[in-house]
Amino acid sequence: MFRRRLLAAVACLTALTAALTGCGAVGAKPADLQIYSARHYDLEGAFGQFTEETGITVEFISGGDAELLERLKAEGEDSPADVFMTVDAGNLWNAARQNELAKLDSAVLNDAVPQDLRDPQGRWYGLAMRARTITYNPTKVDVAEFDQAETYAGLTDPKWKGRLCMRDATSSYTQSLVASLIDLYGREKALEIAKGWVANEVQIMSNDVLLLDALDAGTCHVGINNHYYLARKIAEKPEFNVKLFWASQAGAGTHVNISGAGLVEGSDNAEDAQKLIEWLATKGQNAFVDANREFPVNPAAQPEAIIAGFGEFKRMPLNADAYGDLNAAAVDLLAEAGYK
Ligand code: FE
Repeated sequence: MFRRRLLAAVACLTALTAALTGCGAVGAKPADLQIYSARHYDLEGAFGQFTEETGITVEFISGGDAELLERLKAEGEDSPADVFMTVDAGNLWNAARQNELAKLDSAVLNDAVPQDLRDPQGRWYGLAMRARTITYNPTKVDVAEFDQAETYAGLTDPKWKGRLCMRDATSSYTQSLVASLIDLYGREKALEIAKGWVANEVQIMSNDVLLLDALDAGTCHVGINNHYYLARKIAEKPEFNVKLFWASQAGAGTHVNISGAGLVEGSDNAEDAQKLIEWLATKGQNAFVDANREFPVNPAAQPEAIIAGFGEFKRMPLNADAYGDLNAAAVDLLAEAGYK
């Protein structure tokens, strides 16, 4: 226990981003649960509520997903971490594959989280869902222009030349989207799609917010964004001139990804860690997802007002194996296509 406490204190001191609920002073009793989180969204509200309801205290170490995974591996059995939380199914899959996550057998979680949004072995669970779909400037684009069945692939049509804006090849958002296209269509066809975007002189943007601003300004006519960035813009400025189109509704459905969590292998508070993950997937769903305007994974929870306004949509089933396993293939394919 002493070792765990010491490690927790050191972890707090060295964290680049200060722990959200505040690391105690050196020597102070560490919280009941230590969470390693690569989720860069507002976590305070939900976890404060969890502590209020259960009396279980929570502390965070924030960092990048790769950085936190390396840290878990380096710390091994001495890791103070109880829960690993990250964005992107591929990252969760990767942590599980590297044996950093323990299996949970929870009827609560199996009921709350749809099957394709959790690990079949119970090592991680999706807790919030984001859609990566088409965004467009309605002054410049008529929705009838979109290919209803294959909307992502449809952007290779020459009519979109010089009108497209997308994220960079280094973004995990781009990589997972392309991995899902490889999974759906095979490498050959996915390569053809990426080459088609490049042939259409796609403008590469370094983040989703810049992309939306370019759409609003009319510099870009159509883009691909995570839905919550648009929701945030609309919340700030209701007359923001960008609309959302649900991709591939007459085909495979819109690409989605998750934020999720798993119990860290070797946690010495597995019981409370499980309680936390269960709470986030049930009672705490809205507190957890609404702050970032993500979709609840639990069908019993309602999405917040702005994203509910985007309407219901059919999603492409999430294949975490593919997002993880095909990540390298996606990176390679984008390079081959000349997509920057
Ligand atoms: Fe994001």
